[in-house]
Amino acid sequence: QTTTKPPPTPSPLRFSKFFQPNMRILVTGGAGFIGSHLVDKLMENEKNEVIVVDNFFTGSKDNLKKWIGHPRFELRRHDVTETLLVEVDKIYHLACPASPIFYKYNAVKTIKTNVIGTLNMLGLAKRVGARILLTSTSEVYGDPLVHPQPESYWGNVNPIGVRSCYDEGKRVAETLMFDYHRQHGIEIRIARIFNTYGPRMNIDDGRVVSNFIAQSLRGEPLTVQAPGTQTRSFCYVSDMVDGLIRLMEGDNTGPINIGNPGEFTMIELAELVKELISPKVEIKMVENTPDDPRQRKPDITKAKELLGWEPKVKLRDGLPLMEEDFRLRLGVSKTI
Ligand code: NAD
Ligand code: UDP
Ligand code: UDP
Repeated sequence: QTTTKPPPTPSPLRFSKFFQPNMRILVTGGAGFIGSHLVDKLMENEKNEVIVVDNFFTGSKDNLKKWIGHPRFELRRHDVTETLLVEVDKIYHLACPASPIFYKYNAVKTIKTNVIGTLNMLGLAKRVGARILLTSTSEVYGDPLVHPQPESYWGNVNPIGVRSCYDEGKRVAETLMFDYHRQHGIEIRIARIFNTYGPRMNIDDGRVVSNFIAQSLRGEPLTVQAPGTQTRSFCYVSDMVDGLIRLMEGDNTGPINIGNPGEFTMIELAELVKELISPKVEIKMVENTPDDPRQRKPDITKAKELLGWEPKVKLRDGLPLMEEDFRLRLGVSKTI
């Protein structure tokens, strides 16, 4: 006697109220430094599908190589100043060069990226009903007259200087976000990011931490731009990504400062790099660029209260992690 097997029944979960479809997430600028670390974190969740769009101006496919070909991942060469048609639930909008050398290189393009690029991503968010997070910057505070900087401070920004394409660009981007929120009910999140560092930063992008680490490994003098007493606060990239995800998932529009309140002068930073990486290297004072903010330190009261977030990695612990990555990329091994 033969018995016929009953057809397989579909998984009850598939149709139950417990079934949740995958979350489709767009990351603009996802091939860049912060974007690629964010993608790594988002891809850890098996319910997330990630689409990256990037024009590869400062980013690289190399930063995403472990995900290329993955069924939940898609990479598109696309410039955000052009219309984009995709269906997504969430948008992390990072696309914009972040290093002064690159954002000044084609200032008009930087403005277009900030203004037209953000407008397009908001138009997309409106069409598909997605929540959108903008990575704004501490540069919106300009050369701040209030220290440390709370979100309520409106800033001291030169509207016609060489940095304006970036800082005024981001200020307009924030305005657009709030106007789409008020006028069209778009769900928005704004992060004001303070100086961030970590593996995968462009080796020659001119930012201070990457410069000092590359210089110390090449045995070149550390170039402190005068007067060297200007301060910055440096956040390790894993802390930054954690803060961005908490902001996206929480209920607050922001703007919210995300950064590490540990404050260092550029001379102190150079001395720390020297101590940790290459005690023999020299420190050399060089000329500064116009409009360089004299001090910068986030007030992170809001991030602590509203997101339950604060940075965990101290500069002294983060620099060696970055050193390791730079050694690999520069082909300089550690000599004891
Ligand atoms: P990054 O230069 O490494 O990444 C930016 C990415 O955007 C790159 O992959 C680049 O190719 C891409 N991009 C630039 N213009 C584009 C365009 N028109 N269309 C599509 N893609 C474009 O910089 P990052 O440090 O990863 O910064 C990411 C975001 O965080 C930026 O919005 C930046 O303004 C913001 N931010 C960064 C810092 C920091 O210290 N790193 C500080 C404040 C704010
Ligand atoms: N946009 C986009 N993708 C979309 C929807 C809109 O890139 O899925 C762009 C569109 O090209 C427009 C911008 O977003 O330039 C603003 O769109 P919105 O609908 O708000 O304004 P409108 O098209 O009416 O000017
Ligand atoms: N800086 C420096 N040496 C360098 C590059 C930068 O001393 O080789 C200083 C610069 O003058 C500024 C600070 O480091 O005061 C941070 O500069 P960066 O370009 O990293 O970021 P910013 O905060 O200005 O956007």
